[in-house]
Order: sequence, then C-alpha cells, then structure tokens
Amino acid sequence: MPEQKRDYYEVLGVAKTASEDELKKAYRKLAKKYHPDLNPGDKEAEAKFKEVNEAYEVLSDKEKRAKYDQFGHAGVDPNFGAGGFGGGGFGGFDMGDIDLGDIFGSFFGGGFGGGSSRRNNGPMKGETLRASVTISFEEAAFGCEKEITLNRTETCDSCKGSGCAPGTTAEVCPDCHGSGTIRIQRGGGAFTFATTTTCPKCGGKGKIIHQPCKDCGGTGNVRKQRKITVSIPAGIDNGQAVSLRGQGGAGRNDGPAGDLLISVTVRPHEFFKRDGTSVFLEHPVTFLQATLGAELEIPTIDGKVKWTLPAGTQPGTTFRLRGKGIPSVNGRGRGDQYVTVKVQVPTSLTHEQKEALRAYGEAMGEIPASPADSVKSFFDKRKKKK
Ligand SMILES: [Zn+2]
Ligand SMILES: [Zn+2]
Repeated sequence: MPEQKRDYYEVLGVAKTASEDELKKAYRKLAKKYHPDLNPGDKEAEAKFKEVNEAYEVLSDKEKRAKYDQFGHAGVDPNFGAGGFGGGGFGGFDMGDIDLGDIFGSFFGGGFGGGSSRRNNGPMKGETLRASVTISFEEAAFGCEKEITLNRTETCDSCKGSGCAPGTTAEVCPDCHGSGTIRIQRGGGAFTFATTTTCPKCGGKGKIIHQPCKDCGGTGNVRKQRKITVSIPAGIDNGQAVSLRGQGGAGRNDGPAGDLLISVTVRPHEFFKRDGTSVFLEHPVTFLQATLGAELEIPTIDGKVKWTLPAGTQPGTTFRLRGKGIPSVNGRGRGDQYVTVKVQVPTSLTHEQKEALRAYGEAMGEIPASPADSVKSFFDKRKKKK
C-alpha cells in the first residue's frame, strides 16, 4: 500500500468551505513555490508539486469535489493504490484553466502580453470583426456603397510585423529553438512525467526581440481606426450580412488577416412591403374606378408604371407587375410586384353627392343582398324540406 494520502484541502492549505477563487489562489501560490523548474533536483519539491496539482485537479472540478467531500480519496481516484503515474496517467498535468505561461509570466515579471496564453507560434488568422449598417428599402433593392469606421489591429508599418526596431532582427530563442514550447521531463522510473509548456524564455514567441519597435512595442501589430467603403449588393435583405475577406484584424506570425462581417438592417418602406424578391403594395382606387375601370399609375421601385384597371374589379383583387420586384441578390433575375386593389368608400359626402348616390341606387333598382337575406333563405329551404 502506498503511503497515506494527505487531505486535499490540507495540501492546498484551505478550509473545506473554500471558494473557487480561494482554491485557485492557494493553488497558484503553491504551484509556483514547488514548480520543478524553480527547484531543480529537489525531489521533495517535485513530490509536493505533484500533490498540489492532484489536489487542485480534484477540488477545482465541482463534481469531483463533491465526490471527494463524500467519499474521500476513494471517491475520486479508482486507481488510487494501483501504483505509478505511468505514461498518460499523470503526463501533461491537467492544469485546468491555469496556463503555465501565466505562472511563469507573473513569476518572471510579466511582459509576455497577449502571447502568454498561446502555446504555439505558428501562423494564426486574425480576428473576425463585426460591424453593422442600416440602409433604405431602395438601397437594399439596388445596392449601394456605405462607409463604415472601425478600429482594428493592423500589421505595424514601421517594422512590417517583425516587432524589431529598424535595422535590428530578432534572435531565435536558444531555449526552444523557435518552437515556442519546451518539454520538461522530471523524476525517474514509475514517476517519470513530462509536460509540454510555453517556453518561459520567449513567452512562446520562439524569438527574442532585443530592441523592440517603438511604434508597436515589439508586438508587430498596431490598433488603427479605419474608414472602409463597403459595397452592398443589390437585393440584400434585412438581417443578411456582407463578408469582406481579409478586412478584419491582422494575422499573427504571418497568418492571414481575419474577415470583416457587416450585418445589414433594411429600414421598412412607407408603403412597399417585401418578402424575398417580391414587393407588395396596396393601391387605393375609388368605387367609380373599380366599377368602370381606369388607367392607373402604380408606384414601383423603378418609378411609376401605367396599368389598366379592368371594369368591375372587386376589392382585394391582386394583380402582378412582372419583373418589378427586387433583384435577386445572387444576380439571377428579379422578382415581381403584387398590387392589391383597395376600394375606398367615401366617408364624408355633401348633400349633392348623397342625392347623386341615391339616384344611382334607384337606377340600380334594388338594394344589394345582405347576409340577413341569405340566413332567411336558408331557413326557408329547411322549412320546405320538412
Ligand atoms: Zn512595429
Ligand atoms: Zn523560447
């Protein structure tokens, strides 16, 4: 049987009621204190480091912590007592959300900047930027150009992204030979373990800049405010987005720049409605026009077009104007415009107008059928059936 395991809370020196933050603080302090790189050849520190990591791995995980509180070591480590931290078992140290670079960073006086959380120095695509524009109904239909202002990271002009002052170059990191990571092997026999971690000498950059560029402070990137003209294609709809490749943030380590995504809001029109490439319009006509027919001028997004309203057009009739809708955003054709006839009933009439209408009624010889009449005839029919 292995030696008696210490209580995890005791290992981290915290109370059983410790919060996540308290655990993290305690862990960070101890991990620094016992880190193998800071205690070369010290077997006791190494053992303590392992113990601290194990304790934190369990207590920082809500589920594992609950089990540990209930069942002790047996609750969280079924292999406990089986012996050895071979190969994968303990290799690589699950450090949770704590980055070794972070620990080194604070230990060596910081200065790793944004690089501390990255463990590779290969090319990385730049950040995707988002912006939005609001355009009119017509601008959406026919396309437009809009200028937007945005802040983005760009490659530093002075050093062309190298981060080095003019006339100087960076030195390849002697510790990691440019890879940005190092592998630390510790212990021996059953207790051999290895961890791959951000190179502390260069902070994962793989190079060491002795004279940083004054304009970017050695990062190779600068923040700039830019005005960008965006072409909005004809036919774009509310809620769609335009993507501009390479107009986002600068890439890192010679990676490509990110993209710029512009979401488009289309303002509603005063009287046109839109669904896809179709345009809908309600067009008022007088009772007389609907009855006798008329030459109408219908507004479309292209301007007014002539349309002959046939005599006897009923209210609510919809007709179609071919090709007067919205152009398809992928350039294939145009939609139609649908016009629904709205017959207007006069609401205020002069005495003469009323007389004229009464004369019209008399000329028609009858009062139009009412729902009451249909109900009456319905009951009449039922009576006859009996
Ligand atoms: Zn620079
Ligand atoms: Zn290095």
